Amino acid sequence: MGSVEKSELFRRLPSVDELLRQEGMPAIVAHQGHAATVATARALLDEWRERIAHGELTVEKVAAVVEAAPAEIERRLKAAMGYSLRPVINATGVILHTNLGRAPLSDEALRHVAEVARGYSNVEMDLEDGERGERDVHVSWLFARLLGEAGAGVSVESHISQKKRDVGQPTTIVVNNNAAAVLLTLNALAEGGEVIVSRGELVEIGGSFRIPDVMAKSGAVLREVGTTNRTRISDYEQAIHEKTKLLLRVHRSNFEITGFTEQPSPAELSALARKRGIPLMEDLGSGDLFDLHTVGVHGEPTIAASLRAGVDVVTFSGDKLLGGPQAGLITGDHELVAKVRKNPLFRALRVDKMFYAALEATLLAYLREDYDAIPVLRMMRLTEERISERAEHMVRQVQASAAKLSVEAVKTQAVVGGGSAPGARLPSRGIAISLPELSADEIARRLRSWETPIVARVEDGRVLLDLRTVEPEHDEVVLRALEQLAASN
Ligand SMILES: *Cc1c(COP(=O)(O)O)cnc(C)c1O
Repeated sequence: MGSVEKSELFRRLPSVDELLRQEGMPAIVAHQGHAATVATARALLDEWRERIAHGELTVEKVAAVVEAAPAEIERRLKAAMGYSLRPVINATGVILHTNLGRAPLSDEALRHVAEVARGYSNVEMDLEDGERGERDVHVSWLFARLLGEAGAGVSVESHISQKKRDVGQPTTIVVNNNAAAVLLTLNALAEGGEVIVSRGELVEIGGSFRIPDVMAKSGAVLREVGTTNRTRISDYEQAIHEKTKLLLRVHRSNFEITGFTEQPSPAELSALARKRGIPLMEDLGSGDLFDLHTVGVHGEPTIAASLRAGVDVVTFSGDKLLGGPQAGLITGDHELVAKVRKNPLFRALRVDKMFYAALEATLLAYLREDYDAIPVLRMMRLTEERISERAEHMVRQVQASAAKLSVEAVKTQAVVGGGSAPGARLPSRGIAISLPELSADEIARRLRSWETPIVARVEDGRVLLDLRTVEPEHDEVVLRALEQLAASN
């Protein structure tokens, strides 16, 4: 192809302005914005020039690419302007998967978030007198109901009357996450003094939350007592002196110490705290409202049990076993929680109305005892039989439509995860798949790049999809992905 011909081809290219006037382009500009559309059009023109220079475009081809430009620009913009944060299907069998966002929210929570966040709300206004209110009231009354008389039973009174606090009921405030709750509470209750913690409870939670480091940042001094495996109440007692401001108990939420062990109960610690006039705080980590024994998960303390045992202030996460949004809850003795709330850090760590809305809806489901409305509880409560039926059904479907894929229903062990119930296993079912020409890692990678990414486990050279954490309405999506995977190979 001669250079004369090339210059002719260059002349046939439209200008950016001409491109933008092509049919369909104004709608794209309106939708994706002028700047981004112009930048994409320029990039496309540059590519065409390059291809002409390399002799890759003929007269006919130039006409064709120019005609197809609006569709191509739209396709590129959609890819470039799409969301980075996307829903995925969790087939790992880890219910509270920290990398996958921990607890999914209930439908009711999402509806309530949408209605509250779309417009104005009474987040900080008492509608009765039109005065400024505190945002905590929206969830504090619910925790008081759920934990009132330390969980001895739930009475249902309207939230209006509950805003006038009942004496003796726990008060609750909300911050960004449990790490923030621990930091804030330590700072408010123990800055400049000492906090006694057992050496067996100096935990590290993933993501660099370490009790000694948080303690240092709070301005309190850590006073370690006991040993890794055994700490007695007398160890605490001997360590108390005039600088002691707080006794802290930390739940071993992501590890277990077994064998020759000893750890004072919250009740023993509470008795000591009372005797010496020092508050007792417990970082519960997950903090259950729901008794997990019914689903075979043991060893996770309930919030109510801690309060009943006399712990003055407990902190826990909103998005672990509670099944709500990311949040840190600080609940307990009214005077102490009020002191925490007055601390200037509270203002820096507080959360938006959306979190109150999601929490409120989640807690109302507990109040109604509608546990299946809360996704993480629903997943934990699923029977093995029900999951097994789904696994068998999926295997039959795959065998019928994607014969190349070798597939089998298998017994699996789902876990609670997210730094909760470290030893607990929930018997589950999944499907194991393999393809002769693809490695398990490659299959897992392709599933992750599916339209709705599917995150699976690789075990013994096979890809394992645990169905306990897959919402049944997503079974069809998984099936289609498997069929496509087999067809493309
Ligand atoms: C998970 C956990 C935390 C941190 O909670 P986040 O909500 O993730 O900030 C702190 N302490 C314990 C014991 C935990 O299990």
